[in-house]
Order: sequence, then C-alpha cells, then structure tokens
Amino acid sequence: KLDDRLKAVAVQIRSSVHADIGSDHGHLIKALLTAGRIQRGIAIEVNQRPFENSRSTLTGLNADVRLADGLAGLNPGEADSLSICGMGGELIARILQSYPDRVPPDLVLQPNRCPEAVRRWALGSGYHLVDEQLVIGRLRYQILRFQRNHACPDPAYASVDRDAALLFGPLLIRRWEPQFRDVLLDEYRYLNDFDRRTNESQHRLDALANLLQSEP
Ligand code: SAM
Repeated sequence: KLDDRLKAVAVQIRSSVHADIGSDHGHLIKALLTAGRIQRGIAIEVNQRPFENSRSTLTGLNADVRLADGLAGLNPGEADSLSICGMGGELIARILQSYPDRVPPDLVLQPNRCPEAVRRWALGSGYHLVDEQLVIGRLRYQILRFQRNHACPDPAYASVDRDAALLFGPLLIRRWEPQFRDVLLDEYRYLNDFDRRTNESQHRLDALANLLQSEP
C-alpha cells in the first residue's frame, strides 16, 4: 500500500517504539509493524478524519493512535524514533521546536518542500544529518535521516558550501549522483528562464549556478 516515497521512508526505520506524526491513513506504521521493523507504533494526528482512518487501519496491531497536535501527543522518552512526512519543512521544524525535550534520538523527516528549514532546525538542535535520499515521484522528495549528537558540529557540512548545503543537501551534493545533478539542472533552467523572480528564487538560482559551475 505504500508509495515509493513512503517505502523509501520505511526502509530507514528500525527501532523498538516508533512514532509517526501526521499519520493520516496510518499505512506507514502498519507497514513497519507487519514487516517487523518496529515492535510498537504510535500514530499521532491532529485532525479527526485522518485520526479515525489511522485507528481503523491499525486496529488489532500493537499501536496507539492519538488525536493530538504534534509532539503534544508523545511523552518524553516514550519513542526511540520518529517520522514526519508529507508536510512543508517549516511546519515540520515548528512541530519539532515546540517540544524539544520530546524529540526522540532517531528521526526520518520527509519535507515536501523547504527542506532547508528542517536542516536548519537540526543544526541548531544537536541532530546530525546521517543520510539523505532523493525520490522522484509526483514531486521530487528529499528523505532526511537525523541522529541526536550534541558532541561535535555536524560533519556532513564540512567542506561544502553552507548555503547550497542547506538548500540542496550536503550529502546529496557530496554523492553528486547523475539523477541529483539532473534535478538541479532542471531547476536551474526553469528559474533562469523565469523573468519574475522573487528574492528567494533568485537566491536559489545563484546557489544553483555556483554548485553546477563547481561540479563537486
Ligand atoms: N504522513 C502522511 C504521508 O506522508 O503520506 C500524510 C501526509 S498529509 C499531507 C499530512 C497529515 O499531517 C494530515 O493528515 C494532517 O492532518 C496531519 N498534520 C498536520 N499537522 C499536524 C500536527 N501538528 N500534528 C499532527 N498531525 C498533523
């Protein structure tokens, strides 16, 4: 039942107790439980209809389904890992910011847009970026995996341009796979042909031009 995006999220998760914020239909937690990747699931939804959908999908499985706003539905230390998928990066960062002491040590985050807001949150909150995947589906999705580590600065950002790394992904830039380069090139061409650029899109265009010119 999972699309390629959520399949790519699921393979990043293996833990004892996993919480999914914005569980919607509840399919991610169900897939993780039935594949034995987690022992117990916690599905959290802020809206009634998806809360009920999650409850019906997860009936009979080792899962709690909670009607709550983000981390308000999770107790400190209750889960080993957490996913938040299919929302904007700013909203994901806001959810994480609102209860810093409830954020589990292992995170898989899939912002639909503005992944830089999530990376910025992690840099300021003692989480290291340990994996980045690009999935091409209806949109171009980035799947970001983080681990809590207050010991040192995040090595993912060593020797890459900080600005470009926040926007496009330090690990994706380092790997520089052809598919990633094509995505950047497409966006560069699109923005370059567009004659009514905002400050934000001009900033992206400049960062893309630098990155494509220097070809890591
Ligand atoms: N995570 C699923 C996925 O990736 O397919 C669903 C994505 S859906 C676009 C976003 C879901 O997050 C909606 O069901 C919405 O009700 C829920 N949501 C949005 N803000 C939330 C919050 N603060 N706390 C819990 N759920 C939230």
